[in-house]
Amino acid sequence: VPELPEAETIVRTLSPRIARLRIEKARYPGKRVWRRAPVPDLVGRRILGVSRYGKQVLLQLDRGHLLIRLGMTGALLLDRAPGPYTRAEFGLGSVTLLFDDIRQFGWLEYADGPPAHLGPDPLEITQAEFVQRIRGRRSQAKRVLLDQKFLRGIGNIYADEALHRAGIHPLAATVRLPRPRAARLHAEIQTLLTEAIEHRGSSISDYVDASGAPGSFQGRHRVYGREGEPCPACGAAVRRIVVAQRGTHFCPRCQRR
Ligand SMILES: [Zn+2]
Repeated sequence: VPELPEAETIVRTLSPRIARLRIEKARYPGKRVWRRAPVPDLVGRRILGVSRYGKQVLLQLDRGHLLIRLGMTGALLLDRAPGPYTRAEFGLGSVTLLFDDIRQFGWLEYADGPPAHLGPDPLEITQAEFVQRIRGRRSQAKRVLLDQKFLRGIGNIYADEALHRAGIHPLAATVRLPRPRAARLHAEIQTLLTEAIEHRGSSISDYVDASGAPGSFQGRHRVYGREGEPCPACGAAVRRIVVAQRGTHFCPRCQRR
């Protein structure tokens, strides 16, 4: 958290408020927030656009690009007073933009060009490309979905939910995944993420959008965080295992290897 739907919701609340504004003030209180030195001087630059890169937020400036990794608890908040967890504060004329981050796994990164280091966006990749890519991986389904170089934007919540919807076990070997099942996973990922965006994301670990509003998709999770509760499809108890150091939730009846 935040994953693709939460980042998309942040972008949609942020964009109409800050696009075209000029950065007049920039302050980075507390611990180091920039991923690498040197810290760029952003004062005077104009924000041309706000977009999403995987689960990160990207500000396109009139010169350069600012990538904001939200990490576990990062939030971009408009018109709030800075608090103890504020790691960056941007004055944009009449608007203030804060980057607050309780756990401090987030960071800011500046680059001259747009980012290109991660895999395709799950809402843009074609079925044919997805099927070919996933069957080319010698790993397990959950691990592959978490890999940002495979697809950018899916994290622990939406990996579990997508695999449940597609009836695929988190430990299933991707290289042996039959083409129709891989194609179904592609379709389920796109439907899931679209639904989650419509519900403004899942509010887990204090997630809120740029206006401070929570999402509501957490009420529609089928397996994530529901260990021991009945699978909505078949009634079997949802099970939890650990895959790639992440708590992984699945239905032992609906999801096949
Ligand atoms: Zn089930």
